[in-house]
Amino acid sequence: MAILKILHHPDPRLRETAQPITEFDAELSQFIDDLFETMYDAPGVGLAATQVGVAKRVAVMDCSEGKDKPIVMANPEILELGDAETVDEGCLSVPEHFDKVTRHATTRFRAQDRNGETYEMEVEGLMAQCVQHELDHLDGKLYIDKLSSLKRMRIRKKLEKAQKAAR
Ligand code: ZN
Repeated sequence: MAILKILHHPDPRLRETAQPITEFDAELSQFIDDLFETMYDAPGVGLAATQVGVAKRVAVMDCSEGKDKPIVMANPEILELGDAETVDEGCLSVPEHFDKVTRHATTRFRAQDRNGETYEMEVEGLMAQCVQHELDHLDGKLYIDKLSSLKRMRIRKKLEKAQKAAR
């Protein structure tokens, strides 16, 4: 297993639309393990392949307290969304920023696991928020896209400054 480098906004690779997974082989399984290790290490509750510069439709999540309920979402699609609600959100690719956004309180989705088996799941609360957030990543979207352009500009400037200082 390996800890992968998480890309930070405004890296253009975060804007790529990820391509469907067609082969569920050992290589994919290894990559999924690396995604989990990177997510737990960060620490975060979800991580999409796009965030580590791999434009494939796969994301992982674990919103459990004990960090023992790993969920693999390959080729995920949303089937149904519940009522809208305002939630606090953050993202490993937008470090040190949190903001209020609108999400749906429940989500029913379909995805494949690491073996290519299709499953359906209905989730609520943080898990529902996480599914919506990670699926957005696979389409090159970030939660800050939902904020005002002025706010987005401020966040971008702050992150670019931090990245320059880190060089
Ligand atoms: Zn994110």
